Amino acid sequence: MSASPRAVLSVFLIMLGLGPLLLPEFYVTLLNYIGLYAIVTLGLVLLTGVGGLTSFGQAAFVGLGAYTTATLTTASELPGWLAPFGHSPWLALVAGLMVTAAVAVLLGALTLRLSGHYLPLGTIAWGISLYFLFGNIEFIGGHTGITGIPPLQIAGIEVKSGREFYYLIWPMLLALIWATQNLLDSRSGRAIRALKGGTLMAEAMGVDTARLKMAIFLIAALFACVSGWLYAHLQRFVNPTPFGLGIGIEYLFMAVIGGAGSVWGAVVGAGVITILKQWLQDLLPKLLGSSGNFEVIFFGLLMVLMLQRARDGLWPMLARLMPVVRDNGMARPEGLPLPKKAMAQSGESLLVVKAARKEFGGLVANNNMDLTVRAGEVLALIGPNGAGKSTLFNLISGVTPMTSGEIRFLGERIDGLNSRTIARRGMSRTFQHVRLLPAMSVLENVAIGAHMRGSHGVISAALRLERAEEGCLLAEAARQIERVGLGTQMFEPAGSLALGQQRILEIARALSADPCLLLLDEPAAGLRYLEKQALADLLRRLRGEGMGILLVEHDMDFVMGLADRVVVMEFGEKIAEGLPDEVQRDPAVLEAYLGGVE
Ligand code: ADP
Ligand code: MG
Repeated sequence: MSASPRAVLSVFLIMLGLGPLLLPEFYVTLLNYIGLYAIVTLGLVLLTGVGGLTSFGQAAFVGLGAYTTATLTTASELPGWLAPFGHSPWLALVAGLMVTAAVAVLLGALTLRLSGHYLPLGTIAWGISLYFLFGNIEFIGGHTGITGIPPLQIAGIEVKSGREFYYLIWPMLLALIWATQNLLDSRSGRAIRALKGGTLMAEAMGVDTARLKMAIFLIAALFACVSGWLYAHLQRFVNPTPFGLGIGIEYLFMAVIGGAGSVWGAVVGAGVITILKQWLQDLLPKLLGSSGNFEVIFFGLLMVLMLQRARDGLWPMLARLMPVVRDNGMARPEGLPLPKKAMAQSGESLLVVKAARKEFGGLVANNNMDLTVRAGEVLALIGPNGAGKSTLFNLISGVTPMTSGEIRFLGERIDGLNSRTIARRGMSRTFQHVRLLPAMSVLENVAIGAHMRGSHGVISAALRLERAEEGCLLAEAARQIERVGLGTQMFEPAGSLALGQQRILEIARALSADPCLLLLDEPAAGLRYLEKQALADLLRRLRGEGMGILLVEHDMDFVMGLADRVVVMEFGEKIAEGLPDEVQRDPAVLEAYLGGVE
């Protein structure tokens, strides 16, 4: 027996809706806490699970939400401009969100640039700092906290009992899950998911990764703030205890154990940890014969076990158990064609590199490199391994800064610009070592290439106001996939393709950006003979449309049959340039490149 995901969701929602009417008060309270924790964890799913940015400090943002409303709604007298915020918890929520946003932007600016382990360490530092701040400020009650927080009111009705609160917390949680799911399934969502693969590819596709990181950091902080606000009015009392580092770590546990890659993982994680904690707090002290927070040790062990055995958490396992028939959205996306840039006149110089030099410490990887690529031509860059071809690609596309020299693209200097800006001007590239997101479908991977042709951001994605544009972006990706001959694999995970095919995927991704200049780093490596023929045909067609193509390739038959001109490099320098025939006969090339033997 199996049902559609929609039916399973409906049953779940009906159970959620009826729960409080059937369950004893104790369980309703438990469910309320699970809901509150799940709101925070949902932010972590986005930030950590999807975006790859680990934060131990979310509890501090919960505290900001709780303390802002507690302070404002209990103050006997507020200065004039603040007074309106004290009269209504709802206005206090707005104030809390503003305070949290301000703090998050500040902390984000300080910590998000930190790489590797420094980011989690940074979050620990601010988690601790904010916690001590809560405990040491006199007017918010120090360690005793604030009592007498008024109940919430909706349309004049007080929300006081656990059951009433339940019907506030869970709809809010579900709304946030819906919005987060929408966000993930959008142009911005693809870019957020691309963050985990490092910023290099995303930036080369025109994604502003620093801005996106800030966006998900902010969203996670605001979710935490909402949870804190609800908590304060549910408890009607706050003190610093629930906002310390320990709880921050627990939120991270919830995300990891539930399944940090999926929005429902937040609910599962919050549920499992909350119930386990309740149960272990009763059981362990009895078993061990002394009191203490032994559950923390248990959670630590559980986390290590999960990280070793089930990195994706419980949600994927649960989802597999559920009697669901999946339709993976297998319909080819339809949408209007996106506007295209005007192509340059055939023969016009697109790219002019002059005296490019790149040093890595003492190693000169590129020296005095000159080359020009014109519209409607294929320029092949060849040379033995280590000659400096990929390095030159990185200089041209803005991935690595040049030591000296000059690069012009469409007549303007581009050396010194970042890869995102250069990509926006119409240059698109593939990578020698493929950079794609193996778990995402071919379609979604290619759609990342079309990122800069869309404009809708995070908010319209969350509210699903960008469906028309999204349809166009996906349809464009689908067209490019069919153009390169991967049409039958459109919905398969990119990681399941053969390596040669993954390179072809990268070409489709580059084409989705609507470039006038393509940089292809060893596109034919790993392809079979017929596939190489097909690729050569495609590149000829693109050239016919006026595209400029700069190509690094080792297969000499492929290069000589396709290229209009060839530049040969050795030890970082140009040793020959000319028509394929000329270059093939050049003694210097034969000596250097072919080792002197034919
Ligand atoms: P090719 O693509 O022609 O095979 P590369 O451009 O990858 O050659 O490498 C040229 C030289 O520069 C090699 O000696 C390589 O080891 C060196 N190199 C490339 N990238 C770096 C880097 N990031 N740091 C230090 N050395 C590098
Ligand atoms: Mg290379």
